[in-house]
Amino acid sequence: MAVRNIVLYAQDAAVLRKKSKPVRSIGRGVKHLIRDLKDTLAHSSDGIGLAAPQIGVHRRVVVVRLGRYGGSGEEPDLSIALINPKVIDAGEEQRDFDGCLSFPGLYGETVRPHHLRVTGLDERGRPFDSAFEGFDAVVVHHEMDHLDGVLFVDRVQGLEDLYRVRVGENGELVRVPVQAICL
Ligand code: ZN
Repeated sequence: MAVRNIVLYAQDAAVLRKKSKPVRSIGRGVKHLIRDLKDTLAHSSDGIGLAAPQIGVHRRVVVVRLGRYGGSGEEPDLSIALINPKVIDAGEEQRDFDGCLSFPGLYGETVRPHHLRVTGLDERGRPFDSAFEGFDAVVVHHEMDHLDGVLFVDRVQGLEDLYRVRVGENGELVRVPVQAICL
């Protein structure tokens, strides 16, 4: 199956800012959308989550890979879909690392809850009520933000919290401050 929407809408603010509508029924269209999201995520080397608006579809569907960076310990390369996700409880917010497939090479330090209880439908249309902890909660929160047109650059406290990364002389990763960002 070819990846239909490998082009991510990098700087297309209008697409990323538009709110997504709830999914009414899990039909072929939604199943196709989930497959596209999973395929696109699987083809990205460092992506851990993707939301439908990032591939230009404004429906409330996200896919996440859990268990990265010391999270829940689940199979790291398996992604799961969350349909119409809704936060029903959130823990204390903490500073953590953030990045986004729609902003390649840009990273930041954002403040997000490290405990999240979310309800919604799984990809078979069955209701779920799940708790996400640690970085898994950060990832789910980041992706759910996309459904409301909120981007990680909105959640940094200042430009000094945004940076790019380059490889230094000795192979080490060096943070390069971002001077400005246009959205
Ligand atoms: Zn993102």
